[in-house]
Amino acid sequence: MAFRLDLEDDIQLAIINIGRDSFDGHIYGKDEEDSIIDNKTSLRLIQTCPNSNARAGELVTPHGIVATPVFLPVGSQATVKAVTPDDLKELGITMVMANTYHLYLRPGIAVIEKMGGLHQFMAWDRAIITDSGGYQIFSLARLRKLSDEGVTFRSHIDGSQHLITPELAIQFQESLGADIIMVLDECPSHTDTLERVEKAMDRTHQWAERCRGVQTHGDQALFAIVQGGLFPELRRKSASFLVSLGFSGYAIGGLSLGESKALTQAIVEETVALLPENRPRHLMGVGSPEDIVESVARGIDMFDSALPTQIARKGALFTRQGRHNILRSAYSQREDPFDPDCACYTCRNFSAAYLHHLFKCKELLAYRLATIHNLHFMNSLMKAIRDAITGGTFSSFRDSFLASYQPTNDEVRLVQKKKWLDAQNRSDTIQD
Ligand SMILES: [Zn+2]
Repeated sequence: MAFRLDLEDDIQLAIINIGRDSFDGHIYGKDEEDSIIDNKTSLRLIQTCPNSNARAGELVTPHGIVATPVFLPVGSQATVKAVTPDDLKELGITMVMANTYHLYLRPGIAVIEKMGGLHQFMAWDRAIITDSGGYQIFSLARLRKLSDEGVTFRSHIDGSQHLITPELAIQFQESLGADIIMVLDECPSHTDTLERVEKAMDRTHQWAERCRGVQTHGDQALFAIVQGGLFPELRRKSASFLVSLGFSGYAIGGLSLGESKALTQAIVEETVALLPENRPRHLMGVGSPEDIVESVARGIDMFDSALPTQIARKGALFTRQGRHNILRSAYSQREDPFDPDCACYTCRNFSAAYLHHLFKCKELLAYRLATIHNLHFMNSLMKAIRDAITGGTFSSFRDSFLASYQPTNDEVRLVQKKKWLDAQNRSDTIQD
């Protein structure tokens, strides 16, 4: 049974739990409503997992209800690469993430506004969240020049010069019209010194305050982004400061950028402890199955990452046992589907040999079929997580999932990640 607060609210997160006798977690009542900061997002926390910080809920947006914890496919350029909105709906996707930096440079915010906004432009009538573009400016753009006013940068596409301020980041996102928008933040490198990271954090805080001050569209929820690098004391400071300002939701940025998984989780834990329970929590850029399970256990509600769709286009497909590459010769004559246990369109209709053949020939259908499989895997994983939380079995689900899922070797992963980040800094091509 789902409980929701004030239906006139545009976006709210209601934590639900389907009747479970053994539950002994918290029960929150009317008093907690006093802590609601504004009327855009509200969270009614009914129950949480008694053995971890995992929680199941519902995000109610102007474009439908999003069950949480949720994984958001990334569609930086107003498209989740290789699939149609109908494919996404068929997969059960309820929300996608688009990117203001990419859309600002191409086709331009004014074009999308003229077309009736982002939902209409990309023919997607379900929920959308837009990232402000802070991360992309710091990782993709050239010759960045930072000041308290904003960031001046050269486009990675044509070298043209641009200035984005916190005020403009909000104005652009209001024109795009996503259901959830984000503050402009400064995202330091994970190798930066404490002094450097602290300075970026302070600037992120000032910018968050300015973003909040200029927001005019009451039907959009504004999320703050907690920064502070890999320094627990800075993360605590950042979370406390942003919570004191009061936002509709809180994202954790600047993680999974080359540090170890253990460190990522330690920082998540440190940060979540200071975030209000009645607000959605979004862990940015984390999309590997094992990281999602571990982060849900630490209280995260929302994830976005290009990983599942990006690796799909390279032939790397998820299974409950880990990731396998369809290009391996072992698949060249396999009559069975890639994953006989998978119920996705690809596995229901095609042999592994056929998918292997498409990839070998670089046929365009390969990318669509592989993307469908990986997104189906992610959505099924999130549903299994939600069912486990509401069914009171999340702890055993987590143990059995992690026991059978073989993650990519951490050393190999870090080398791959570094290569990818370096390539992004060099490349003229867009990678999202
Ligand atoms: Zn499949």
